[in-house]
Amino acid sequence: TDRNAKYKRILLKLSGEALMGDQEFGIDPKVLDRMALEIGQLVGIGVQVGMVIGGGNLFRGAALSAAGMERVTGDHMGMLATVMNGLAMRDALERTNIRTRVMSAIPMSGVVEHYDRRTAIRYLTSGDVVIFSAGTGNPFFTTDSAACLRGIEIDADVVIKATKVDGVYNKDPVKHSDAVKYDRLSYDEALDKKLEVMDLTAICLVRDQCMPVRVFNMNKPGALLNLVVGGQEGTLIDQ
Ligand code: UDP
Repeated sequence: TDRNAKYKRILLKLSGEALMGDQEFGIDPKVLDRMALEIGQLVGIGVQVGMVIGGGNLFRGAALSAAGMERVTGDHMGMLATVMNGLAMRDALERTNIRTRVMSAIPMSGVVEHYDRRTAIRYLTSGDVVIFSAGTGNPFFTTDSAACLRGIEIDADVVIKATKVDGVYNKDPVKHSDAVKYDRLSYDEALDKKLEVMDLTAICLVRDQCMPVRVFNMNKPGALLNLVVGGQEGTLIDQ
């Protein structure tokens, strides 16, 4: 392991949409390859990497429900979508020679391992990247909540949420040129200001367990490594 890393064990959350690239739907393998290189840099300096990937590039229960489908069925489809994204990410990581495990909250024998906390920690300790798929395994939750839950369970030093912008702003920086970025926010500010950092369930969970969260821009090359070695990137949410 490397003495330079500020965080020894992280939980990295990627949205499903991050895997789409410029497409409208699905997975762009070129985007995955770029992410695999960035994650490989962390593994290279001895950082233990757990990951949660969303499924919004494929299915979202709320959207399917709005279109007429039963919500729970839609959520099950959304969770299965995260397993597909996990398999695609494992493929990209293993092609760059990074040993990777995919675990699923929903048993799926023959495809991926069933989630087991102690086994996951053993894999992380031995240097494997572990992708926690199928969210929490329950409908009406999000993969942000799954990321916070798994981060707390594996005793990660930080939950790192990748977004398309440089951090958390007082308003949408894509729509407002005068939006101001926060370098630091308390959990209560993140809840009160309704900044849409993560859903409220996820924020309550990290607040109750004092798990720090950092939001950063995954499209900025090198930002992930910089963050992990202690550089100022994005927004830190803590006490
Ligand atoms: N989902 C769920 N329970 C979970 C996590 C996810 O039911 O614990 C479903 C839910 O329908 C959600 C979909 O999976 O819309 C995809 O996850 P999410 O929307 O969090 O993905 P992201 O926005 O990060 O791509």
